Amino acid sequence: MGMIGFYAGSFDPFTNGHLQIVKKTAKCFDKVIVGIGYNPEKKERIDKNKMKEAIEETIKDEGLKNVEVVLYNGLTVDKAKELNSNILIRGLRNGTDYEYEENISEVNEKIADLDTCYFRAGDLGYLSSSIVMELYYNNKPIDEYVPKAVEELLYSLKNK
Ligand code: ADP
Repeated sequence: MGMIGFYAGSFDPFTNGHLQIVKKTAKCFDKVIVGIGYNPEKKERIDKNKMKEAIEETIKDEGLKNVEVVLYNGLTVDKAKELNSNILIRGLRNGTDYEYEENISEVNEKIADLDTCYFRAGDLGYLSSSIVMELYYNNKPIDEYVPKAVEELLYSLKNK
């Protein structure tokens, strides 16, 4: 079955930073599954089903044939195992991300024997979903920071 990577996140919204990680990992693994999780600690800003569609459209636009998107509840490791993933994927922007991710990765390894592979954010290390939303709420352009399908989704919500 090969290497199946599970890239979990809130993706609220999915940014060019996330896309960059998906593109890098699609080259490394046989399959990459983007998992949009429900994080009870975070309030949902954008409807998850709509975000799933926008990510799927982005993947199509980018011609990424070995990437798929799922929604899930509960623990990331449980969903990853259910989908036969053998590696978890996370992106690292800075030292703070590293500290945070290391705790989660340690627990995931302990409880599910699943290792985590980190990918570098590089020159998009400044980008976060909250920064995009801050710009969006204040009517500034966001086209530089999110894929086209995500930009269209956000603007369609504004016009309602
Ligand atoms: P979570 O709520 O699980 O942290 P996010 O949607 O904020 O979910 O991020 C998902 C993953 O993508 C995390 O590993 C995060 O560090 C990473 N990530 C977020 N923004 C970027 C970026 N600009 N470049 C690379 N990785 C990123």
